[in-house]
Amino acid sequence: MDQTEELRKECARLQAELEAKTIEATAQREKSAQEILRFINILSHDLRSPLSVSSNFIGLILAKYGLNMEPKMKEYLGYSADGLRTMERLLSDIVYYARIGTSQKPLVETDCNKVLESAATALRGEIEASGATVAVQGGEGSLPVVMGDVALLTQLFRNLLANALKYADRPPEIQISSAARNGQWLFGFKDNGLGIAPEDRERIFEPLERAHREVADKGGKGTGLGLAICKKIVERHGGRIWVESALGEGSTFYFTLPKA
Ligand code: ADP
Repeated sequence: MDQTEELRKECARLQAELEAKTIEATAQREKSAQEILRFINILSHDLRSPLSVSSNFIGLILAKYGLNMEPKMKEYLGYSADGLRTMERLLSDIVYYARIGTSQKPLVETDCNKVLESAATALRGEIEASGATVAVQGGEGSLPVVMGDVALLTQLFRNLLANALKYADRPPEIQISSAARNGQWLFGFKDNGLGIAPEDRERIFEPLERAHREVADKGGKGTGLGLAICKKIVERHGGRIWVESALGEGSTFYFTLPKA
């Protein structure tokens, strides 16, 4: 066997070895991800039960003794109940976050007008209470059809709308746009809210990172996972998400989704 032939054989052997190792590493990673998911599911299940027992007892104390209770005591019990509710929401969000992408459901043709309708319907109470307007650039029904997972995209739209409603200091004006860019659809969710400082614009997409903590805490509704969930959903679709903003003037969240 000449040297070239020997070298070719060695290369083929090394390549096969590399491929086998890559397959093994991927399987190992998937196994670890599944184990973490199982652990999170068990943990959340086991934490939910003492949480709901505590919530129920607080409700019972307030119902039974609330009328004769010192106002301060009633107030403190109210705070405890709020804290427990936040923990319940945080647990649901953690489980939701961990599950995104694990089912690998195939992406199908998805009409984003329907996605927007479902997301806005779910937030109808908040939209009406804040006097917000939600407009689609080009008029109702002009959003495109993308390749997507309808449940995940509804959650994405819902989280972005909910934040535009929450981080506002005047009646929110939300404008949704879409445009074809580099073989993908580029979406924009623009609001007239508080805006985001330059140093916060990347970190807010990481789990539990917040910028306007006072607002998030006051509303008692945020878990600090909303945008991390958005990022994971967009990445599951092979896209990218980012924000452009001017403090005090508003923000536009952009993301890309695959064309149908
Ligand atoms: P949460 O709202 O639960 O705190 P998110 O992950 O949804 O968590 O958002 C992270 C942070 O990003 C928020 O705490 C807020 O400071 C900021 N943020 C998100 N959306 C907006 C928005 N539309 N305008 C201004 N700030 C925003």
